[in-house]
Amino acid sequence: MPHSVSYPEVQLFIDGQWRGGSDHGGAPASENVINPATEEVLGTLAHASRTDLDAALAAAEKGFAVWRHTPAHERYKIMRKAAELLRERHEAISTLMTLEQGKPLPEARVETLAAADIIDWFAEEGRRQYGRLIPARAAGVQQVVHREPVGVVAAFTPWNFPINQAVRKVSAALAAGCAVILKGPEETPASCAELVRAYADAGVPAGVVNLVFGVPAEISQYLIPHPVVKKISFTGSTVVGKQLAALAGAHMKRVTMELGGHAPAVVFEDADVEVAIKLLSGAKFRNAGQVCVSPTRFLVHEDLYARFVDGFTEAVQGMKVGNGLEDGVRMGPLANPRRVEAMEALTADALAKGATLHTGGSRIGNKGYFFAPTVLTGLSPDARILNEEPFGPVVPIMPFTSTEAVIAEANRLPYGLAAYAYTTSSARADEFARRVESGMVSINHHGLALPEVPFGGIKDSGYGSEGGTEAMEAYVNTKFVTQLGV
Ligand code: NAD
Repeated sequence: MPHSVSYPEVQLFIDGQWRGGSDHGGAPASENVINPATEEVLGTLAHASRTDLDAALAAAEKGFAVWRHTPAHERYKIMRKAAELLRERHEAISTLMTLEQGKPLPEARVETLAAADIIDWFAEEGRRQYGRLIPARAAGVQQVVHREPVGVVAAFTPWNFPINQAVRKVSAALAAGCAVILKGPEETPASCAELVRAYADAGVPAGVVNLVFGVPAEISQYLIPHPVVKKISFTGSTVVGKQLAALAGAHMKRVTMELGGHAPAVVFEDADVEVAIKLLSGAKFRNAGQVCVSPTRFLVHEDLYARFVDGFTEAVQGMKVGNGLEDGVRMGPLANPRRVEAMEALTADALAKGATLHTGGSRIGNKGYFFAPTVLTGLSPDARILNEEPFGPVVPIMPFTSTEAVIAEANRLPYGLAAYAYTTSSARADEFARRVESGMVSINHHGLALPEVPFGGIKDSGYGSEGGTEAMEAYVNTKFVTQLGV
């Protein structure tokens, strides 16, 4: 029975060994992991000391020397095996994820199984890291482009998708022949550790994948400048991303930044409004809105506005909110108390500035980090929720009158991660896709984040891609070799 899965004491994984944290100048440090649905302590998590980080760096350097010379086909076989192990273990892993993160169990299953697909895809892609031969201008000259792994990668991943955020970075890195030190999410560590376990059990050599936890700022300050680390990949907030990118820049390290978003979701006047209501309400409350590509600013043409607000509110009110392990629960708790406080503050701010509340607006109960799915209209342009990433289940809906106005609104913020539109006009769909400033655009459906498609933002949402062939670029160096006398 998946619900009887017991939560483990989560350890570090360094040089092929699971172990606790060592000598922090006293007792080994650890922290409690909390179930966001009950606020009960699930277990404890080991913290890495400086000594542990040094061990991880040494292990990764050693692992890289082995893995970079492991034939691509061998790497492929090991990665495919890791994917199979995740599939075999997915029920127990998904349960751990729901316990620690809160999302409904069906969503946790999707995330875990999707991770196996992602591993498979990158495993295949690793076999296709072709170099190229460039025709020379002179006889006897050979010009070759090699693709080489960048080296040891420091990857920092957040709590909203404990496996998905990590699997993209680790899999692309391994497929390219890199070694990784993963700083996993302290609030949701066990499912992330199970991803690493699948890799380890599949036969990834010691040192190639290392997992650490601790105080995020202390770890990033130490790892990013460290000469062993050649590449940084971070998923999290824009504020932190800018700090880490600056630090990486000071040390000329390669960087991928997958940061916050504030996705416009535009419903044009020729849209099928019922489809838009169904798909947008489904997408918005996935993971309780704690998704970087979550539809966020709902912009609905005035002709459809009243119907959309009514239909969307009705759909929201029909959703079951509760412990993600219970059958039929559509939305779980938020992952931590910070998000509940943020939802309370954003809602209060919008209401103080004149917004109308259609449903929700407050915490549910006094145990667990539950916040009611919330719909707001009549928002003042300076309402914080229209300008800051909410990362939660609060929906502001605004009417618009013209395409010019809605494109201007869609592009108004410094974010540029995802954008959504609903329209039955292909000309309007084309225009939206061309003019919206966004790394990803999804029209009439929500089709982002498959392994084989690019995933990433522009502007303050970061740079680099975590999907598709583009994702491999982040983990390879280009080396040009020209030789006379061949
Ligand atoms: P936060 O900004 O403190 O942390 C976000 C993530 O960054 C966490 O995983 C955290 O461990 C990590 N982090 C923080 N400081 C770090 C540092 N100095 N070095 C390395 N890692 C560091 O905020 P939070 O309360 O955890 O989340 C709030 C906001 O973060 C959300 O509103 C959202 O905007 C953003 N976020 C984005 C994503 C995403 O998928 N892009 C995921 C989680 C959080």
